[in-house]
Amino acid sequence: MNVTPAHAAADPSADAAVRADDRGHVFHSWSAQALIDPLPVAGGKGATFWDYAGNSYLDFSSQLVNLNLGHQHSDLVEAIRRQASRLTTIQPSLANDVRGELARRISQVAPDGFEKVFFTNGGADANENAVRMARACTGRRKVLAMYRSYHGSTSTAISLTGDPRRWANEPSDGSVAHFFGPYPYRSPFHSTTPEEETARALEHLEQTIVLEGASTIAAVIIETVVGTNGVLVPPPGYLPGVRELCDRYGIVYIADEVMVGFGRIGEWFAIDAFNAVPDLITFAKGVNSGYVPLGGVVISDPIAAHFDTVPFPGGLTYSGHPLACAAGVATFEVFERDGILDRVRDLGSRVVEPRLQEIARRHPSVGDVRGRGLFWAIELVRDQETREPLVPFNASGPDAAPVAAVAAECRKSGLWPFTHFNRVHVAPPLVISEDDLIRGLDVIDHALRVADEHA
Ligand code: PLP
Repeated sequence: MNVTPAHAAADPSADAAVRADDRGHVFHSWSAQALIDPLPVAGGKGATFWDYAGNSYLDFSSQLVNLNLGHQHSDLVEAIRRQASRLTTIQPSLANDVRGELARRISQVAPDGFEKVFFTNGGADANENAVRMARACTGRRKVLAMYRSYHGSTSTAISLTGDPRRWANEPSDGSVAHFFGPYPYRSPFHSTTPEEETARALEHLEQTIVLEGASTIAAVIIETVVGTNGVLVPPPGYLPGVRELCDRYGIVYIADEVMVGFGRIGEWFAIDAFNAVPDLITFAKGVNSGYVPLGGVVISDPIAAHFDTVPFPGGLTYSGHPLACAAGVATFEVFERDGILDRVRDLGSRVVEPRLQEIARRHPSVGDVRGRGLFWAIELVRDQETREPLVPFNASGPDAAPVAAVAAECRKSGLWPFTHFNRVHVAPPLVISEDDLIRGLDVIDHALRVADEHA
């Protein structure tokens, strides 16, 4: 059941040299430095990358759900090359052609009434700046964010985050309160239908607003589809209900689309699929597949107008970097020319969804499958009746072994998976061929035997 290696040639001396420099000098994020052994990566193309030992991997992680157009897309590489030979850097306070063109193209695919874009270097600082805008406009400070969310690892962004990555970074400044969002498979509200989940989640959010003090709340921030915390697709009516509550209490609604924007679920902005219009949309990753770091905030006209005469109190040296923006403009051209959004919707509903449903029926360790487009999660359990997770929440070391074994089994068969707690996510580059997509799902199907032994 191996994925056929492509472009892989063993080079043991390069492998050893990369390992030596990395382990000797690179300090890695989110890791105990002595306990990790990062794979040295030699190259990549499309949905595949390869190491120096002669192994190729079908990339079902898109490198942190980032490489929407895959590795080494020739149009993006060429756009960066052309821009580099013309103008590599220009400070944010000057006007620049590719920066302006990218901002215009983003505003054209955003909901009506979002004309302006503030560029950042990535997703966390996009959220930082969105919160700063909301605070400046409302004169309020507190932000409501969901449990089971990730918004980045800079100061405000990590305090917004509703998962264990926040814990070691506390105490924060105390101006964030968390609430429960919908999660039909493990409903915090004991709901039995999506409609009930929507109604109860909205009632809970309104209670939170009232008890936290509406007059103190600047913003509510929500990942349109929750990403690393489980690919939680909001049930019908939830996001429109959030919009209504924000209107009722004068709160800014920030949609974090860092992971799901730019095609991941087959929409430019995921919010388009859920009949709601936020006040600010944050993005990064897919805007240029991370070829050069870039993120930003798309700003609704009333919020932008607030800063017509009041200076916005923030800025970043690399904001709207020309190399990053050139890759962003090329991304738009590829999406439009190659019909990427239609392709994602088609592959999601015609290939991934039925195959995952079929996998769920055959494996006792699969509790739930959910997602949209090319963004899915398989949630693993010990018992389908009780829904006890295959590994405990926030498990590490031996406790996490059953899911680590599934990941190892995938890698052995040439698939690079994205696993988190008791889930295997499916998030390949949007340019993956249908054959590779099917083969990757076959590898996961095969690897789940290992999980079934614990179920
Ligand atoms: N928001 C969401 C939903 C994310 O998934 C991420 C990163 O995965 C971030 C924000 C942070 O983005 P960055 O790592 O570019 O700062």
